Amino acid sequence: MKALLLISAPGAGKGVVSKYLKDKYKYMHVSMGNLLREKAKTDKTIDDILKKGEFVDNKIVYELLEDIIKNNPNENFVFEGFPRMLEQNEVFEKILNKYDIIIDRVIYVDIKKEIAIKRITGRLTCSNCNETYNKYFDNINDNKCKICGGDLIKRNDDKLSTYNIRYDAFIDKTMPLVNYYKEKNLLYTVFNNESVENTYNQIDELMDKEMK
Ligand SMILES: [Zn+2]
Repeated sequence: MKALLLISAPGAGKGVVSKYLKDKYKYMHVSMGNLLREKAKTDKTIDDILKKGEFVDNKIVYELLEDIIKNNPNENFVFEGFPRMLEQNEVFEKILNKYDIIIDRVIYVDIKKEIAIKRITGRLTCSNCNETYNKYFDNINDNKCKICGGDLIKRNDDKLSTYNIRYDAFIDKTMPLVNYYKEKNLLYTVFNNESVENTYNQIDELMDKEMK
């Protein structure tokens, strides 16, 4: 089976890309963040770590990864949020090897930093129904949710200072991984600066290339 690795610059909008790959190309979407949150429901140790905002031990992450691969032998996967750095990638590749899964493309979702900052710092979340808006791109009346009328609030992760920390960590830790796959000729860059349709077209183009 095949695997596609999705690497995204902070705020580049990987959700749009992973949903498209899942809906149109029938990849099974594996988000490490979602797996951990799911696991935390029945595992108090992990729940505590996530609540404190700390990193979960790599060993647990690898086990979760292997479980999902083992339990879904006939799926092609898109992996998101893991690996984030070269050190994790080594083990990641070993696990895939063990189950005869080939990484056949790596998609790097890139964005202009100033657009990412607007997306992130402009994001407002409904305190009632969790719908998200953007104060720069959406028409917002009186800071109220258009669906339920709830108050719109800014989440802590959406502050500029938090974004800058994530961005620096990305350049420092994740860019070497991007370069690693570039050297292996597996890297495709998708620019998510314009419309969603523009992003979809870029994905279609790179998926077509692969079918030759
Ligand atoms: Zn709402």
